[in-house]
Amino acid sequence: MGHAVIGVDLGGTNLRTALISPAGHILAKQKEASLASEGHQKVISRLLKNITEQREKAGREGLEVVAVGVGAPGVILSGEGIVVTSPNFPDWNNLPLRRELETALSLPVFIENDANTAALGEQWRGAAKDVESMVFLTLGTGVGGGIVYEGRIWGGAHGMAGEVGHMTLVLDGRKCGCGNSGCLEMYASSRGIVMSYLDAVPSGTVDGAGGITSADIYRSASDGDPLAVRVMQEMGRFLGIGIANLINILNPAMVVIGGGVKEAWPLFIEATRREVQRRAFSYTAERTQIVPSLLGDDAGMVGAAAVALQKLR
Ligand SMILES: [Zn+2]
Repeated sequence: MGHAVIGVDLGGTNLRTALISPAGHILAKQKEASLASEGHQKVISRLLKNITEQREKAGREGLEVVAVGVGAPGVILSGEGIVVTSPNFPDWNNLPLRRELETALSLPVFIENDANTAALGEQWRGAAKDVESMVFLTLGTGVGGGIVYEGRIWGGAHGMAGEVGHMTLVLDGRKCGCGNSGCLEMYASSRGIVMSYLDAVPSGTVDGAGGITSADIYRSASDGDPLAVRVMQEMGRFLGIGIANLINILNPAMVVIGGGVKEAWPLFIEATRREVQRRAFSYTAERTQIVPSLLGDDAGMVGAAAVALQKLR
């Protein structure tokens, strides 16, 4: 009987589940709303239902599911399989997610932070599949990320490494949700872009600027609006400073950028690359590829499956 694993991306909005081959190919996948506000018991029941459906599908194809990998947002103790806290699931405090799922499924289950699983997914089957060591940044409402070193997630001493969005860039900068101020997240996320735009608009000159979205700003910048163009280039420079720091510290072969802000790629990437060349050691800066992610919403599931396969060995 052939083997397969199930990879789960448990997001605050969507719960994505896939049946994945040992070579990292998605054989089947499904998605439904996470409905985090209904509380952890209902989310876990939904999770179990999705996993069971994929397992049954595998059985019909003559495949045995040997493990489940789950990427979840928040502070995750991956060794213990515990969700310490999760901003998207307010009632998840020290939740032993791994034990709950293993008891119900009688299968080995592995839990990881979702940005780490997305990083590993891109390294295994996505934009970085030809390199062993890379850094992934996901630019969304916030800035997440993960570090893959020689084909494995660099978790650090407590499994919490890779929080690239919270490196400090600005002395006494914008207050960040993490408690620090001046974090990369406050300048290179979609929220940061909107804040930069509102800071730059001369007060009273734009009607309804308070309701502006990052997509509006990308559109204005594409249309050549000088203020929006400047905001996107400034965002690109902040991102470039962050990437230059990562290059100097980690010397990754590749930096992969995903998340919703990636849609605005042509509006910021030149400024990013210039800043990297200006600040990082030139030998490494010239040799580090900065590329968009390839797997999109599949990265987390693929990476969660990779975690499961690696830990089974
Ligand atoms: Zn922060």
